[in-house]
Order: sequence, then C-alpha cells, then structure tokens
Amino acid sequence: MFGLFLFVCIAILLSVAFNQHFRLFQETLDKANKDTLTGLNNHGYFKEILEKEVTAAKENDQPLCVVIMDIDDFKKYNDLYGHIQGDHLLQEFGSLLKASSDAANYIVARYGGEEFSIIMPNTNRKTAYSFMNELRKKVNDTHYKGVEGLPYGCLSFSSGIAECEKETYSISELLNKADQAMYAAKNQGKNLVQIYNGHSEYTVQRSLSLEKELEEAEFQLKIFLSKDVYTYRHSKRVYQYAVDFSRMLNLSAHERKTLILGALVHDIGKIEIPRDILNKKESLDPHEWEFMKKHVTYGKDIISTNKKLEDLIPLVELHHERYDGNGYPYGLAGKSIPKLARILCVIDSFDAMTTERPYQKTKTFQEAIAELRHCSGKQFDPQFIEPFIAMIKEFESSGDEQHKEVAASIVN
Ligand code: GH3
Ligand code: MG
Ligand code: MG
Repeated sequence: MFGLFLFVCIAILLSVAFNQHFRLFQETLDKANKDTLTGLNNHGYFKEILEKEVTAAKENDQPLCVVIMDIDDFKKYNDLYGHIQGDHLLQEFGSLLKASSDAANYIVARYGGEEFSIIMPNTNRKTAYSFMNELRKKVNDTHYKGVEGLPYGCLSFSSGIAECEKETYSISELLNKADQAMYAAKNQGKNLVQIYNGHSEYTVQRSLSLEKELEEAEFQLKIFLSKDVYTYRHSKRVYQYAVDFSRMLNLSAHERKTLILGALVHDIGKIEIPRDILNKKESLDPHEWEFMKKHVTYGKDIISTNKKLEDLIPLVELHHERYDGNGYPYGLAGKSIPKLARILCVIDSFDAMTTERPYQKTKTFQEAIAELRHCSGKQFDPQFIEPFIAMIKEFESSGDEQHKEVAASIVN
C-alpha cells in the first residue's frame, strides 16, 4: 500500500513539474515570437510563417499574397502628442488589424516601427486588393484620439500588395515587391493601396541608376582580367546578348536591368576556382568538374554580401539549372526556375558553344543554332529558343555582331 501511495505521489509531482515546465516553455516561445507593444507576431516570426506559407502555396498550386503597410504621417502624430500616445495608437491600430485579419484567416504581424504586414493564404491579388481597400476605409472611418491633427483628418496607411508567383524565388523577393508597391502608394499621395507591377513608377525611377550599378558590376568583373581572361570576355559578350535580347523580349524595365546586370556578373563565383582548373587545356576530370560546378554557389555567396545586388542572386545561382531538371545546383525544373535564369541559360550556353574554350571545340553559329533547337525542352525553355535564334540570324544578316549600344540608353 505504501509503495503504491509513494508511486502515485511521485507521478503527481512529476506531472505538475512537467506542466509547469511546459507552460514556461510556451511563455518563452510566445515572448520570442510576439511584439511586446502590440501583441502581434514580430518580424522574425512573421518571416518564418511566410516561408512556410509560400512553400505550401507553391506545393498546392494556390495563390498567396503578402501586404506591407505603413501608417501615413506617423511622425507628425508623435510630434503632436508624444510617443506614449503614439504607442497607444499603434496598439489600437494593431487590434483593428488583427480583428479584420482573423476574420479572413489572414496572419498579421508588426513588421517594424509603424509598419505592419499581412500574409493572405489562398488569396489572389484582386481579393487582396478589395480586402485592403475595405480595411483602409475602416481605418479612415474609425475615430482615434487626436487624428484631427493629421493631414487627412483621419488615420490612414499606404500599402503594397505582392502576389506570389511560380517564379517567385524567395520571400525576400516577394517582400521587396510589396515594399516597392507600398512606396509607389506613398509617392502617389498616401492613403492608397497599390498592387505590385513591374512597371510601377517607383521601379522605373530605380532603373535610372543602372549606369552607376553597371560601373560597379564591371569593376568587380575586372578582377578576372588577370586570372581568367576567357571568363571576363565571355561575361562581356553574354552581357551584350542580354542587352539585345531583353529588348526583343519586351521585358519590363526592372527585369531588363536585372538580366543585364546578372549577365555581366553571372560567373563571378569562378574567382574561387583555382587557375589550373580554369585554364586547363584538356577535359576536366570528374573531381575537377564537381569543383567547377560550385562556382554558382560561390557566386551567390559573393553577390549576397551586397544588398543592392540582391535581385541578381537567382541569375548567378541558377543559370546552370536545366528545364528538364537535370541541372545544378538544385535540379529545379520548368517554371520553378526563375524566368530570367532560364533566359540567361540560353544566352550563356550559346556564347559558350560559339567561342573558344580550353576544353571544348568551338561551334559555328549554324551548328550552335542546331544545338539550341536540339536541346529545346531539355536544357532550355522552348519559349525563348526561336526568338533568340531569330535575333542571332538578324545579327548575321546585318553583319553586325558588335553591338556597341550602351545598356543604360535602352533602359532609360
Ligand atoms: P510617411 O507617411 O511617409 O510614412 O511618414 P511617417 O511620418 O509615417 O514616416 P517616418 O518614417 O518619417 O516616421 C515614422 C515615425 O514612426 C518615426 C518614429 O519615431 C515613429 N515610430 C516608429 N516606431 C514607433 C513606436 O514604437 N512608437 C512610437 N510612438 N513611434 C514609433
Ligand atoms: Mg515607415
Ligand atoms: Mg509612415
């Protein structure tokens, strides 16, 4: 009897201790994931959820939108009434946001300062747009203490919506787009909802800085001159093809800029490959090939250190992926390879085929065109093959292979 009693006591004690620890763990987890002022999800946790939701949306082929919103003229409110009242306003705004988002099964977070974000699973841009406009109206119509002092006489926010697409490479790309759209809304006078489109005024303005960025990218590339003159010249040619082909494909200003800059620096990772492998006259042995393939990952690491070049990462990392899924480094297939990387793959391969390489015989343009057709649908996305061939034939017939045009003048 005593033994049984002891056993029950120990079991109860253990269960109480376990419960307490579990509650403590849960509380710590909540603290780590929640914003202390508003009680909403914090920035870090928001990104974790977004990553999961984007993966799920892609797997299930469902739409997903992400929204970034920024309260208008909040500094003015703080200046008028002080930070404590400012904090109160953020809390009240957060509660309204949460109530509306919960009702639609959306996930809301405080993105930072007076910026908030919403993840909208299973929602296309049109639905997201109406939801945000209703929310905007609700916020405008709600009376918060002191809002008479604000320029619109009410509380308002500007927001940007970005819809996840098959080609969306990362959550930072998605957030970047939502951010650009949000700034476009600010530029157009605030208290607005803007859906991201590559042609937004903001994007065009940003592309004007291409010339300067080209200079920087070229500077990085020049390091190759002493080590591997082939890669340097190859990159310059691929860049030139990108200038011409991006115009032919009617890409948006932002896509053009990304393709052109990406073409210029796509092989930057080869800087990490030893000279004797880069310049070897014979075919590479399997071990050397494995090493050579790493240039895409090295390239990504190099590019990632510069926040301004973030958009180029997919081009640098994925230009050796193949349409049929047999490429590297991930073996992505079809449309899960970003469009610009699929385009760069065609251009890059064409130049590789038609120019001198230490370990491969040069093809004539005709032979290379035949090879492009042969590999269409296997190595290459078929939709870009005939337009690219048409462009090459045009060059040949005009006898003009040296296109001196400066990319900046086209983009501008
Ligand atoms: P815009 O319409 O262009 O967004 O103007 P704005 O004044 O809202 O934006 P700006 O970025 O100039 O200022 C944001 C202000 O938000 C400045 C900062 O002090 C305030 N802020 C950020 N976080 C908090 C917070 O937690 N509490 C309070 N009270 N204020 C905050
Ligand atoms: Mg702000
Ligand atoms: Mg603001």
